[in-house]
Amino acid sequence: MASSLFIIIVGCGRLGSFLANRLSSAGHSVVVVDHRPEAFDKLSSEFSGFRVEGDAAELAVLKQAKAEKADLLIATTRDDNVNLMVAQAAKVEFNVSRVLARVFEPRREAVYRRLGVETVCPTTVAADLFLKSVLAENAL
Ligand code: AMP
Repeated sequence: MASSLFIIIVGCGRLGSFLANRLSSAGHSVVVVDHRPEAFDKLSSEFSGFRVEGDAAELAVLKQAKAEKADLLIATTRDDNVNLMVAQAAKVEFNVSRVLARVFEPRREAVYRRLGVETVCPTTVAADLFLKSVLAENAL
């Protein structure tokens, strides 16, 4: 296996819990942050990481998650503003070398990139897949 990473996942919803379960079972050290304690119910029984309950937009909460030691942080909440705030804090305050964020509004991706944050935009990804499927069907 490649070397084990210390990964912080912000948001333990459908996306965050899926990533946390998979990355933990792949042997990485994972900390998941969510402000709703019931969100942690989505973690599998094999999840071997840590849970931090709190608002990830607060520096104290990221500190509690040991952000200064993280190799990677993934911001997965549904809120572009929260993800941007968390990603910026991870880069600027805690010097996390690799930061990824979920961004719903495609026009905002450039702002993240200027900060050195990698983005995944579900809107663009879905649009590309729909178009590919529709255009492939009509490519006669
Ligand atoms: P989903 O969109 O289903 O993947 O869920 C997003 C998750 O992010 C939910 O479990 C929310 O409780 C969580 N979340 C949203 N805002 C924050 C925040 N500021 N700090 C920590 N967790 C958050």
